[in-house]
Amino acid sequence: MSSIKALVSHQRIIDAVDAVFEAQLDFTTALVQFPSVRGQEGTCQDFLHDAYRARGYSVDRWKIDPQEIEHHAGFSPIDVSYEQAINVVATHRPRSQMGRSLILNGHVDVVPTGPVSLWQRPPFEAYFDDTWLYGRGAGDMKAGLGANLFALDALRSLGLQPAAPVYLQSVTEEECTGNGALAALVRGYKADAAIITEPVDEALVRANVGVIWFKVHVKGHPVHVASAESGSNAIDAAIHLIQALKNFEQKRNLEKVNYPRFAGIDHPINVNVGKIEGGDWASSVPAWCTFDVRTGLYPGESAEDQAREIQAFITEASGQHPFLSNNPAEVLFNGFMAEGYELTEGSQAEALLSTLHAEVVSEALNEITSLAYLDARVFALYADTPCLVYGPYSENIHGYDERVSLDSIRRVTKTLALFIANWCGLEKIS
Ligand code: ZN
Repeated sequence: MSSIKALVSHQRIIDAVDAVFEAQLDFTTALVQFPSVRGQEGTCQDFLHDAYRARGYSVDRWKIDPQEIEHHAGFSPIDVSYEQAINVVATHRPRSQMGRSLILNGHVDVVPTGPVSLWQRPPFEAYFDDTWLYGRGAGDMKAGLGANLFALDALRSLGLQPAAPVYLQSVTEEECTGNGALAALVRGYKADAAIITEPVDEALVRANVGVIWFKVHVKGHPVHVASAESGSNAIDAAIHLIQALKNFEQKRNLEKVNYPRFAGIDHPINVNVGKIEGGDWASSVPAWCTFDVRTGLYPGESAEDQAREIQAFITEASGQHPFLSNNPAEVLFNGFMAEGYELTEGSQAEALLSTLHAEVVSEALNEITSLAYLDARVFALYADTPCLVYGPYSENIHGYDERVSLDSIRRVTKTLALFIANWCGLEKIS
């Protein structure tokens, strides 16, 4: 940590973050205004691409090609178009490398808004008051993407840049497969450490569940509702399976005793039916119903093994239904097939973050167990890279009136700028 002291004090870096914060807030607001739900993230990626280029970084922008990643152990199956599945990576190269390289990662995709009428203001209007920045994706995670860039901008404003390669990654597909972060790894981007500025309330993620998505196709036997008893109602049959999944969820949560970081959590495995469709006509017994499910898995569990268990469970539950016993529901794995991870304790990167967080926030760095998918598993499981998930305080992510704390963004950016300075070292820009 002494190597940078000849060039700049920590206080000057902290002050520099304050000095560019207004610009950072405007930039982050502009990011939130892009409705970058999956399939429409291209324009937001263009905006980031231009912002990176304007600062002189070399920028790699590419469409994820499933063929390039589908043989990788971390690949998740897909059933959507990748026409707009754009990744952007900006690279800073130093004049002479003295320090350690770093990846600053964020995801550009946001989840759907739900009924817009239930938001106080439109979800992509993006507005802020003295305390919060509001909008879909404000916390998850455009504030993080802004912090990654402006931590570097703060150093630039002092005439300084990292003395090691820094990669700014803006990936997509984080909310459905994790294939964006995986594609960046397969393309060759590696570093001595990675930070993902997800909205985790200024804590460090120690352990994280894996996630599996699946879609269940349920058949019925369509007849006129006047003789409903001669048919079989696919929606009723789906409800039978959904109720059975509650038993699956209960059994999975009892297994937490085998996982010390999860044993103290009330309900670590959430099995969520997130979407349902079915039937064609109120007076016809429905011939079809599909529902989409997300489940978690414990670190160390194989996603493929879990997928087989899910398949077996649905087959067994079908066997207990009069119509499905001869027409079993079909399971399609159509998204996350991602394993959980634990961050190995004792890395130099973690020690540095802990020290700097305490310096900026005046409190010790807490560690948490995350029950939501994180791209950090790509770094932890497949690149042997210490990946620190650390980012601002937010509320209502994936809900209505999502918002992220301005003070928290500011603190995280300060910690990040200090981290870059100490991890990578610094050199004068010219
Ligand atoms: Zn996120």
